[in-house]
Amino acid sequence: MKQIFFKDFELFSTIHKFSLQEYLKSSSLQISFHENHSLQHVVILGIRAPLQVMKGNNRVRVCLLASGSRGNSTLIEVDGCRLLIDAGLSGVETERRLSTVGLAGEDLHGILVTHEHHDHVGGIGPLARRHNLPVFIDRQTHTALPKLGKVADLHHFSSGETFSFQNLSISPFSTTHDAVNPVGFTIESSEGKIGFATDLGIPTRLVAEQLKNCRVLVLEANHDEQMLQNGSYPWSLKQRIRSRHGHLSNHESCLLLKETCWSGLEALFLAHLSEENNCPDLAGETFRQTLTDCGHNPEIIIGRQRCASVCFVASPVMVS
Ligand SMILES: [Zn+2]
Ligand SMILES: [Zn+2]
Repeated sequence: MKQIFFKDFELFSTIHKFSLQEYLKSSSLQISFHENHSLQHVVILGIRAPLQVMKGNNRVRVCLLASGSRGNSTLIEVDGCRLLIDAGLSGVETERRLSTVGLAGEDLHGILVTHEHHDHVGGIGPLARRHNLPVFIDRQTHTALPKLGKVADLHHFSSGETFSFQNLSISPFSTTHDAVNPVGFTIESSEGKIGFATDLGIPTRLVAEQLKNCRVLVLEANHDEQMLQNGSYPWSLKQRIRSRHGHLSNHESCLLLKETCWSGLEALFLAHLSEENNCPDLAGETFRQTLTDCGHNPEIIIGRQRCASVCFVASPVMVS
């Protein structure tokens, strides 16, 4: 299969030709091509329009609307059901980012909450109230969130217990991050499994088991260990980040990836990158190397703090 290298502003990701063709079919991108036969790849140059995937029958679409220590929110769409995992930006900014992928707040169907830290929750209450959205949250996390305000359609889940929403089976699983009861999620449907794991603390066996056999994986890649070590953060903060209740480094996350990647993995999102202690190119290279070592070649998409990421858009699963 030919590889295509795709450059969007500062973003860099490697995309299978098949995925890209599907992506272009449903997008309004204006692009030009340059074939380089000697390198056996196609370079896409000169993007003239902002990334926009218009409303359509996308069976699976994933986009990191924001990712990093100043706000996290992920759009997951499966078979017409559109969920946010966390809403750490303001409601207004979340809706602005949604508009860059062709959606509005009213197109959402619900919000899942991982934990109560400020970079994950600021927009939940306003969005839920404005669009009458159900919010799914752990009971203890809810108690730790006095500023959530009144949400009319609130559902408590327990980690380890799968619940259903529309055609989806949603499984929250515990992580060791320093919040009252933090979780990651897997979302399963007839379109396959999507795994979401950020703010991990340490990569436990439970997390590795949960993330197996995913079609799309959103994985924390918070820091480069060397950059954190040499960076300007105070010692206590460095200790917190490195601790078993902090965040995963690129290296730790790659160890987790080694245990979970398989031939069916189509896209790997790198999330919660520190702007101070990580670098998108470095993280992308580190994970690409790990995937190559494992003999797999999924699309890698890197989440950004200041703009929405590239969308992963997949066609329906083929049933033979
Ligand atoms: Zn956190
Ligand atoms: Zn966080």
